[in-house]
Amino acid sequence: MDAHPRPIALTFRDAHGLLRALLVALPASALMLLVLGFFAGQPTATEWTRFGALAGFAVLQGELSRQVERARRRYGSYGVVSMTSVWIMAAAITLPLSLCLALVPIIYGHLYFRAWRGTSDYMLPNRVVYNIGMHAWTLAVSHVVLAGFTWAAPSTVGVTPHTAVLAAVAVGTYFAVNGVLVAIGLHLRGQQTLVGYFLRLHEATLELSMLALGVVVGLIVASAPALIPFVLLPVVVMHRAALTRQLQKAAETDAKTGIANAASWQAQADDALRAAARDSAQAGVLMVDLDFFKKVNDTYGHYAGDDVLAAVGELLRTDLRRFDVPGRFGGEEFAVLLPATDHAGTMRIAERLRQRVTELEVATEDGDGNPVIVTGLSASIGAAMYPEHGTEVRACLRAADQFVYRAKHNGRNQVVGAAPKRSVVPTPRLSTMTPVMTCP
Ligand code: GH3
Ligand code: MG
Ligand code: MG
Repeated sequence: MDAHPRPIALTFRDAHGLLRALLVALPASALMLLVLGFFAGQPTATEWTRFGALAGFAVLQGELSRQVERARRRYGSYGVVSMTSVWIMAAAITLPLSLCLALVPIIYGHLYFRAWRGTSDYMLPNRVVYNIGMHAWTLAVSHVVLAGFTWAAPSTVGVTPHTAVLAAVAVGTYFAVNGVLVAIGLHLRGQQTLVGYFLRLHEATLELSMLALGVVVGLIVASAPALIPFVLLPVVVMHRAALTRQLQKAAETDAKTGIANAASWQAQADDALRAAARDSAQAGVLMVDLDFFKKVNDTYGHYAGDDVLAAVGELLRTDLRRFDVPGRFGGEEFAVLLPATDHAGTMRIAERLRQRVTELEVATEDGDGNPVIVTGLSASIGAAMYPEHGTEVRACLRAADQFVYRAKHNGRNQVVGAAPKRSVVPTPRLSTMTPVMTCP
C-alpha cells in the first residue's frame, strides 16, 4: 500500500501544473481550431442542417437518458460511457471540422447541466472543460483520418470501396486517442485507477459499439436523415442496459472495501467448491480478523477505520491470485476462498497476507481532520481446508472461525490452521478441529 498517496486533485487550484496547462490548452486550442475552421470555409446549408439534426438528437437522447446517466455517474464516476460517441462519430463523417468541434461543447455542456452536475465529488466544471477539450481534439484527429488535412467534410465516406477500412481506422483512432487523453487526465489528477480504466471491458465494448453505430448514423445523416430517429431507441435502451449491469456489480460489491460483499462472496465460494468437488481438488478457506480494530476507531475515528478497511480490501484485491475469491464477511472480518490450493499453499498464502497486513501504512485523517498514517496493524487468520473441514462453505468457514479464535487466544497476529495430513484424502468428511498448527 502506498504510504503517501497523492491526494486526488478535484479542483483547478489543486491540480498538478501539467494538468492545469492541459485544462487550459486543450479547450483553448480546440476553440482556435474551430474559429480557423470557420475562416477556412463557411459550411453549406446542408451541413448546417446536418449539424442541427445531430445536435438536436444528441440533446434529445441526453434528455431521454437523463436519469440513467445520473445513476450511472453516481455508481461510477470515471470511465463510464455516456453514449455521446454515436453523435460525435457521425459528425466526424459528415461535417466540416468547424461544425464537428462546435458540436462537442453543446453535447457535453448539456450533459453537465442536465445530468452530471451534483452526482459526485468528481463532477466539477473543470473536469467537463477537460472533457470538452479532449473530445474536441479526439474528433479533430479522427476527422484527419477520414478527410485528410482539410477543414471540409470528408467526401470519400460511403462512395469508395475503402469506406469500411477508413471507418474502422477512424473508430480505432477515436477510441485510442480518447483513451490516452483520459488516462493522462486521470494520472495527473492522482487517481490510482489507471489500470482499472483500461480493464473496464464492458464500458470499452459499449464505447466501441457507440462509435461503430456512429459510422452508420453518419451514413444515414448523409443519405436519409429522416431515419435518424430509428437510432434513438437502441441507443437509449443500450444505455439503460449498461446501468443495469452497473447496478448488478454494485449490488455484489461491498462499498467500503471494493471487494465482494458477504452474499456475493458466499455465491462465488459455493461455485468454487462445486468446481473443486467436480475436479476432486482441494481448496483453502481463510477467515481474516483484524486485531484490536476497535482501537483504530477509538484512536482515529470511524472514518480512519473505514480507510483501514478499504486498504485491507485493496490488499486482498491486489495481492491474491486472479482466481482467488476475497470478500468482506462483515465488520473487520474478511473471508477468502483459495481454489485449487493444498494445505501448504493455503498456509503460505495466509502467512503472506498476515505479513502484508503488518506492512500496511494507511494515509488517512484523524477525528479532527489532521492527516495521519495508521501503521502497526495486524490480523489473526484462521485457515481451513476443503474437503477436510467440510464439503460446504459454511462448514469450512466455521472451522476457519474456530482457528481465528485460537489465533486470538495465542496472542493474535498469526495464522492458525489444521496440521497437514500425511496423505490427502479427497473424500469429503465432516469437520475435525485437531491438531493445530501455528505460523508465528
Ligand atoms: P480483536 O483483536 O479481538 O478482534 O479486537 P477487535 O477490536 O478487532 O474486535 P471487536 O469485535 O471488539 O471490534 C470490532 C470493531 O470493528 C468494532 C466495530 O466498531 C468495528 N467495525 C465494524 N464494522 C466497521 C466499519 O464498517 N467501519 C469501522 N470504522 N469500524 C467497524
Ligand atoms: Mg471480529
Ligand atoms: Mg478484530
